[in-house]
Amino acid sequence: MSRTESEIKKGFRGTFELIAEHGDHEQVVFCQNKDVGLKAFIAIHNTTLGPALGGTRMWNYKTEEEALIDVLRLSKGMTYKASAAGLNLGGGKAVIMGDPKTQKTEGMFRAFGRYVNSLNGRYITAEDVGTTVKEMEYVFMETSWVTGIPKAFGGSGDPSPYTAHGVLMAIKASVKEKFQTDSLKGIRIAVQGLGNVGFHLVEYLAAEGAELIVADIDMNKVKNVADRFNAKVVTPELIDSVECDVFAPCALGAGVNDKTLPKFKAKVICGGANNQLAEARHGEHLRELGILYAPDYVANAGGLMNVFVELEGYSPDRALDKTVQVFDNVSKVFEIAKRDNIGTHTAADRLAEERIATIGKLKQTHQGVSLRPFSTLKEMKNR
Ligand code: NAD
Repeated sequence: MSRTESEIKKGFRGTFELIAEHGDHEQVVFCQNKDVGLKAFIAIHNTTLGPALGGTRMWNYKTEEEALIDVLRLSKGMTYKASAAGLNLGGGKAVIMGDPKTQKTEGMFRAFGRYVNSLNGRYITAEDVGTTVKEMEYVFMETSWVTGIPKAFGGSGDPSPYTAHGVLMAIKASVKEKFQTDSLKGIRIAVQGLGNVGFHLVEYLAAEGAELIVADIDMNKVKNVADRFNAKVVTPELIDSVECDVFAPCALGAGVNDKTLPKFKAKVICGGANNQLAEARHGEHLRELGILYAPDYVANAGGLMNVFVELEGYSPDRALDKTVQVFDNVSKVFEIAKRDNIGTHTAADRLAEERIATIGKLKQTHQGVSLRPFSTLKEMKNR
């Protein structure tokens, strides 16, 4: 039996079928360079709003299909995140197949950079899980279509203070919606995870006079935060069930699940972690319980806003100003949820989709050409 026949028997799906199942992407690029061991996919989901931006993930994928599905899923997520953030960016992502601990080389990332360059700015990359600023420096040797490069090269550096500032804005919008107050003074906020985002968030919240309860699996981080910001400490097992007004997940994803749902005492869930809902149905459960959920990708878009400013010519002040927009974005999500009587997680998707539809329609009108018609025609013929 030929390979194709056996694959058909096993239910093998063609690449276009996979793309259709995971978001109907505009373009998927297969990148291969045997000399340097590069096997990568670049997925451009949607460029209605602007160039597709999203990081490059390096991971030990077991199969090509697993890598392809991951890049399709992640790039679609970026379209929604950029749109809901109000940015003129589309969604894209890249994955490199390989072990990030042992297989990274200058040659691999420069070869990858040349593929990024060949897309002429349709895709802009950055670091992600398994890649660091160092690899982005190699990519930068081959293309300017890369962000998250060191400050010395005009880059924006660590995005986490900006992500945290955006989360602060999201918490303010959520507290206003739920408790009808503009102040965080005396509001009890439980922060799960005191890493890059969690630490900066605690710093901002303490300055606003919030009452803090914190947890991390790393006791050094806990001690540092408790001493500096007068925060109450609980164990990681208890942080999602403490009496509080706001629960702010800033550790790993899937923190809202069947096990944790019955334990929450918070009235609001709003934090920096990605993929907070284990499944979409958990967003519905939160709604039924009367817990207001600020959708993760709207609340944590400050880091993406920071990178966007890098594309315009970086200024830290402008980046921080931009993250204030998260307040309005989260408020808009709450309005849509009320307007359409749906959960906030669905409302966030609707906000993103409505913006793409509106701006996409605007772009249907022809804007004329800068050259006179005659010379344009001549130019076109000569191409
Ligand atoms: P990080 O690794 O610096 O911090 C995560 C912290 O969570 C660590 O201190 C870790 O010890 C702690 N932790 C892990 N498991 C825990 C548990 N069960 N209970 C309590 N603490 C636990 O990562 P980060 O950069 O701060 O990112 C945090 C989250 O925010 C991630 O989900 C990330 O994807 C998301 N995010 C980060 C950014 C950014 O700018 N860094 C942007 C958008 C989204």
